Amino acid sequence: MTARLYYDDSFLYEFDAQVMEIVPGSQAEARPAVILDRTAFYPTSGGQVFDTGWIAPADASGEGVGSEVVEVTEREDGTILHLVRDAAPLSRGMRIHGKIDALRRLDHIQQHTGQHVLSAAFIRLFNAPTVSFHMGNESCTIDLDTKALTSDQVGAAERLANEIILENRPVEIRYVSPEEAQGMGLRKIPTVGRPELRLIAIQDFDLTACGGTHVRGTGQIGCILLRKIDKVRQGVRLEFVCGQRAVVTARRDYSALAEAAALCSAPLWDVPQQIRKVREDAKITHRASEQLLDELAGHLAARLIAQTPIDMGRRVVIGVFADRDLLFIRLLAQKCARGTDNVIALLASTCGPTALVFAQSPGQPFDMGVLMKEAVAKLGGRGGGGRDLAHGGTAESKGVEPVLAEIKEKLLDYRST
Ligand SMILES: [Zn+2]
Repeated sequence: MTARLYYDDSFLYEFDAQVMEIVPGSQAEARPAVILDRTAFYPTSGGQVFDTGWIAPADASGEGVGSEVVEVTEREDGTILHLVRDAAPLSRGMRIHGKIDALRRLDHIQQHTGQHVLSAAFIRLFNAPTVSFHMGNESCTIDLDTKALTSDQVGAAERLANEIILENRPVEIRYVSPEEAQGMGLRKIPTVGRPELRLIAIQDFDLTACGGTHVRGTGQIGCILLRKIDKVRQGVRLEFVCGQRAVVTARRDYSALAEAAALCSAPLWDVPQQIRKVREDAKITHRASEQLLDELAGHLAARLIAQTPIDMGRRVVIGVFADRDLLFIRLLAQKCARGTDNVIALLASTCGPTALVFAQSPGQPFDMGVLMKEAVAKLGGRGGGGRDLAHGGTAESKGVEPVLAEIKEKLLDYRST
């Protein structure tokens, strides 16, 4: 079992120890693992993620000498495994000097202790217990056992948590037996039977059992910023960031909002109203544009029909449009076929991916779906549809006009037989 130096000092960033064993990389874990008699490296557990850093021979000096610790895990028996990029500089029995990434540790301490404060605030204010905690690279989340949270409740919890931080309340570590812990009003008691419990006490605010790393006074958390609320199976998931992360996140949020405000030529707080207005205007413009396209398609259909001579009682309209999209030619085909009872429209759009639309007036004897399949087979595309309306698409626009002309000929042949 590795002695855990961080239990008594979360701010111990450097330490001396001895290599007990080096476990070579295996299929299950490609990286070699270094086992020490004592360590300040924190292994992933209880929602707090691992430390990184360096383990170097005690007599070595200089930056980057030794083995880089890329992950830290723990075995069930309490042994801590320091997974290293390369174990070659180390050997069994060697005296070493360990150095953990202090900025990463401090960030973890801030997020983790911030979670204690936040979870206690939700208990105090709304009797909503925390059921799980996750620390991500950018933000952290807690899952609260409650049906819903209003933004007012989130605001109240954020305010209380930050008041506790501003008061810089002492955070103390105590060791008690599970029996002693029973009557102490702990927020959370671990279910795993241990001879001794490590308690983290935030003066007159929170008492809980925890094996993580914590600040000495709540002021070191810096601040807590609550963000997204999501409904999850267990209750409500709340995203938060503490300390320097909160500043970085708020800076990024501000930059995005400032850019949006500049685009709207409006003050920051007016951005939502401006976006609502832009969306409403876009809706109105879209409706007007749809109406105009409908009218345009009607006029164009009438012109195409007028320009196409009647042959054996029918008009076969063909057209390839380089400046109209699929939606428009579909509308046009339908206007052609539905406006008059003797029209077959064979239309294509070459603006964007080439699209084909075939339509016939109800009662005509052809099958647009079959004709479309024949057309796309010749053009190297895909398509199909029903008797009166069919769609298709091809990768290239080359050859579309001759194929439409060919189909028109076929329809003429059909009529002559
Ligand atoms: Zn903790």
